[in-house]
Amino acid sequence: MQFENTREFARQLDKEDKLSRYRHEFIFPKVNGKEVIYFVGNSLGLQPRSAKKYVDEIMKDWAELAVEGHFYADKPWWDYHERFSEKLAKVVGANPSEVTVMNTLTVNLHLLMVSFYRPSGKRYKIICEEKAFPSDQYMINSQVRFHGYDPEDAIVEIKRREGENNFRTEDILQKIQEVGEECALLLIGGVNYYTGQVFDMETITKAGHDVGAFVGWDLAHAAGNIELKLSEWNVDFAAWCSYKYMNSGPGNASGCFINKKYHNKKDIPRFEGWWGHNKERRFLMEPEFHPEPTADAWQISNAPILALAPYLASLEMFDEVGMPALIQKRNKIVAYLEYVLQEIDKDVESTFEIITPAEQEDRGTQLSVFLHGEGRELFNYLMEQGVITDWREPNVIRLAPAPFYCSFEDMYEFGQILKKGILSKQKV
Ligand SMILES: *Cc1c(COP(=O)(O)O)cnc(C)c1O
Repeated sequence: MQFENTREFARQLDKEDKLSRYRHEFIFPKVNGKEVIYFVGNSLGLQPRSAKKYVDEIMKDWAELAVEGHFYADKPWWDYHERFSEKLAKVVGANPSEVTVMNTLTVNLHLLMVSFYRPSGKRYKIICEEKAFPSDQYMINSQVRFHGYDPEDAIVEIKRREGENNFRTEDILQKIQEVGEECALLLIGGVNYYTGQVFDMETITKAGHDVGAFVGWDLAHAAGNIELKLSEWNVDFAAWCSYKYMNSGPGNASGCFINKKYHNKKDIPRFEGWWGHNKERRFLMEPEFHPEPTADAWQISNAPILALAPYLASLEMFDEVGMPALIQKRNKIVAYLEYVLQEIDKDVESTFEIITPAEQEDRGTQLSVFLHGEGRELFNYLMEQGVITDWREPNVIRLAPAPFYCSFEDMYEFGQILKKGILSKQKV
């Protein structure tokens, strides 16, 4: 499609956009009385209008029913989390029995490592990507030390080549080969948080299995963003937070995937609690643990219903729209943003560079832009103009136009603001 960098053209794209009405289902913050241009749905998604209603329902049931709400609320609390399985399974490409919601992301990855990182003998190493999200680094480091190993020796990082912004699949496969039977676990972010690069999860998972390792994925930046087929790819486990692309609210509950081949398997250990106990027998309070025959066996505590309520509100919207429609709009709006950036770059004499992969299948919603010469000042200027981006050291802004609520006109408008900001600085 031949794009044009004009307001009329952007408005025409919005008119043709089948998802445009969803913009009104979200609440935008305002700067100078105007709704912001929101590029940080990869950090904290906007609030769906329906979220408050779902929370209010729980507050009302709690007030009117108190403990009876566990069984007699409109949406009873004792199995509230089960409302997620089918819908979440569609988002991540899994069987409903393979997904559950519980805890938060880093906590879940720790718990899943109880099951899937059990170093012994020669096989004790973890392969991850260099400069992983800090929480993942701390988690992997502390797990390795917990098991009595030296992180310097037990953690193997996949590296980018000198002067390159993105990882090459061939280098990842080679590293897996190199570590071979010493590899206990591969644990990588499915979409790199810094560059937005999408990893070839199917190929990498297979390569990990070929050397006898377990393979898990941190899908913080992938869930609700890219197409996932966790079952088909034969992934062992995965977890994601819900407050980024999935718009569930700050710090909210994480989703987990545990491949069905591990359900009911006695040789896969797990930390257990009463919410993972067979639900028909849960309230018999018997001493022996009978696991649910699903990913729910990994649940420990009773679910945080007030937190799950807005997550459910958001998930129902995902279910209504479906990932294919979101991905279709995503591809178009990201391509348009890229085009607008390239047009502006011509006018401002190559001040910036997109470090996200250029191929559509290697990226999702996010474009990371390296600013040459420009610094934090430009970021601050954008904030003052009502453009919310985020800043990463040393000189990168990340732009993620979430297809649920961003418009093509936002992209055009952003381009104009950016150009003005850079030109006014170049003059002085
Ligand atoms: C956002 C993010 C996290 C956040 O972890 P929490 O436990 O939810 O605080 C972890 N890992 C990655 C890769 C992330 O992008």
